[in-house]
Amino acid sequence: TIILGIESSCDDTSAAVIEDCILRSNVIASQKVHEAYGGVVPELASRAHQQNIVPVVSEAIRQAGIDKSQINAIAFTRGPGLPGSLHVGTAFAKGLALALGIPLVDVNHLHGHTLSHFIKEDEHTQVPGFPYLCLLISGGNSQIIKVNAPGDMQVLGQTIDDAAGEAFDKCAKSMGLPYPGGPIIDRLAHEGNPNHFKFAHPHVDGYNYSFSGLKTSFLYTLRDQLKLNPNFVEENKADLAAGLQKTIIEILMDKFSKAIADTGIKTIAIGGGVSANSGVREAVQQYADRHHLKAFIPKRSFTTDNAAMIAVAGYFKYLDHQYCDITLPPFARVTI
Ligand code: ATP
Ligand code: FE
Repeated sequence: TIILGIESSCDDTSAAVIEDCILRSNVIASQKVHEAYGGVVPELASRAHQQNIVPVVSEAIRQAGIDKSQINAIAFTRGPGLPGSLHVGTAFAKGLALALGIPLVDVNHLHGHTLSHFIKEDEHTQVPGFPYLCLLISGGNSQIIKVNAPGDMQVLGQTIDDAAGEAFDKCAKSMGLPYPGGPIIDRLAHEGNPNHFKFAHPHVDGYNYSFSGLKTSFLYTLRDQLKLNPNFVEENKADLAAGLQKTIIEILMDKFSKAIADTGIKTIAIGGGVSANSGVREAVQQYADRHHLKAFIPKRSFTTDNAAMIAVAGYFKYLDHQYCDITLPPFARVTI
């Protein structure tokens, strides 16, 4: 079975081809226009998707070495995401499915991140067994999800304010770093002392997260120190990054480990853009080793937005004959 996946929820235009979960191509055009604005500008994002969508899909089909006529179904991101961005991928997927006379499958972007471990690079790639516990940490979400089956997910906990990615990006922005700041903090943190600065830990019920208190305490530290020394950020950026990253990891692991212990689930996974973070990856792997769990840490290119994960999530729905109607509109605020 050959599935073409299309992803356009935020600022990456991506198309991928899979054959029974085995990756044949995964093309991603990242939009650079937003860097100067310190965040994604929706109107610019949808325009860039319009420019990229045809070349990106053509390139994915070319790299897969297939002909369009071999595609069995088209999977596209229905939401969550930016409405204007979602419209581009949705409309294109519909047009192509109609032209080829093949089924259309709508995919929840968050299911894509959560199922990204099923993208196989070859026949030998190991995939998680069910149920597994996935820590989904991205630009818009921080959730602990019990995955019972590809279409059966239970959210055990989630953020009550900012997502982990937002905490990285907003704190980085306050340091004067460009968007997205997460990967830059990751790089800087390698050279810094994580214990030089201390930032606030939240107290939240159950398995829920909160990152707004940390963000405020980070901002206050900068504000107070800049009064004393205008070069404070420049002179301490590595220590600030290391302290911030360490605190975010502690917050994430605190609730994730609690959920793992309480559910007794032996297979754990991480997904979403923040799971590219080297400190997060190390912490999850170490926890798994210490507690004799199997951890699935996705390849970095599958952590941030990509169409391969959408194709894989779509493949499972396709097997179940869960096709969608050609009139289905995008849904910006869909949840798991
Ligand atoms: P969602 O999936 O919730 O709709 P999104 O699609 O915008 O949100 P992703 O593309 O999954 O989010 O992830 C982007 C986020 O990942 C950004 O906040 C970015 O800073 C963060 N990120 C990427 N790489 C790293 C890294 N190495 N360390 C920390 N954060 C990172
Ligand atoms: Fe995403």
